[in-house]
Amino acid sequence: MINNPPLKIGIASGKGGTGKTLLSTNLAAYLSQTQPTLLVDLDVEEPDDFLFVRGTTQSITDQYKMIPVWDEKACTLCGICSKTCKFHAVIQLGSIILVFKELCHSCYACSELCPAEALPMQKHKMGEIKTIISGNLTFIESRLNIGEEQAVPLIHQTHELAEKTHGNIPLQIFDCPPGTSCPVVASTRNVDFVVLVTEPTPFGLNDLKLAVETMKEIHKPVGVVINRYGIGNNEVEMYCQEAGIPVLAKIPYDRRIAELYSNGQLVYDKIEDMQTSLDNIIKAIQNVVRKN
Ligand code: SF4
Ligand code: SF4
Repeated sequence: MINNPPLKIGIASGKGGTGKTLLSTNLAAYLSQTQPTLLVDLDVEEPDDFLFVRGTTQSITDQYKMIPVWDEKACTLCGICSKTCKFHAVIQLGSIILVFKELCHSCYACSELCPAEALPMQKHKMGEIKTIISGNLTFIESRLNIGEEQAVPLIHQTHELAEKTHGNIPLQIFDCPPGTSCPVVASTRNVDFVVLVTEPTPFGLNDLKLAVETMKEIHKPVGVVINRYGIGNNEVEMYCQEAGIPVLAKIPYDRRIAELYSNGQLVYDKIEDMQTSLDNIIKAIQNVVRKN
């Protein structure tokens, strides 16, 4: 049984389509059979854990960021704002100032440096966070509006909301965006351990190495789950052995898993050995986190 403080696990991968959703949803659903568990889908641009979690919606909250809005009458066309914004979110086109709200990082620089106070900051809806309850499982889904390009502010807000509303749940699983850029760093900033899901192929190995380097830079302990084990070669295992990275589980390539997954069904209660793999993963993580 897991005691306080909560154990926070990030599930990440160097690229999409490796089995991150499969592992996140099945681990959360399985563990929630015996203890309160929180699953947070932080893959805000393409959240899909909801396909596997059925429950009652507890809340939906709109999420906002602050963006500058041009006041044409006050503007003197001095050009300071377009020179200030390092994200190219505000540009001057002749006698017009254009703000690209999707690119804005809400840094306030242009607004504060505008000598005419012609760029006041205003709220802009960028997405929403939904909370669903399914027995012992609390599921939080964070979804960025289509066209929005800044995932990080919404990921930060989701972490804050999860901590504020369900921070005492003893086991917390964060399904992180794929890749190695800012969103995955923002997603894993609060977790105790990161599970990197990969597949035993040259592409899988390449992306795994990049993900391991990213996690090293932010000093997160990692373990690897090899999904679709048996389809490729053993280079991922050899790499993990040489790098001293524990392989927490190998989920075999199994047509039945693919079929269940594509039908929106969990597999932990239908595929033999899956529960053993999930138990091994959680025990290995607990051992590493307890030692740190
Ligand atoms: S800094 Fe202010 S006054 Fe200058 S061009 Fe931009 S909006 Fe207009
Ligand atoms: S608030 Fe910051 S990021 Fe947004 S437009 Fe202004 S300078 Fe650019």
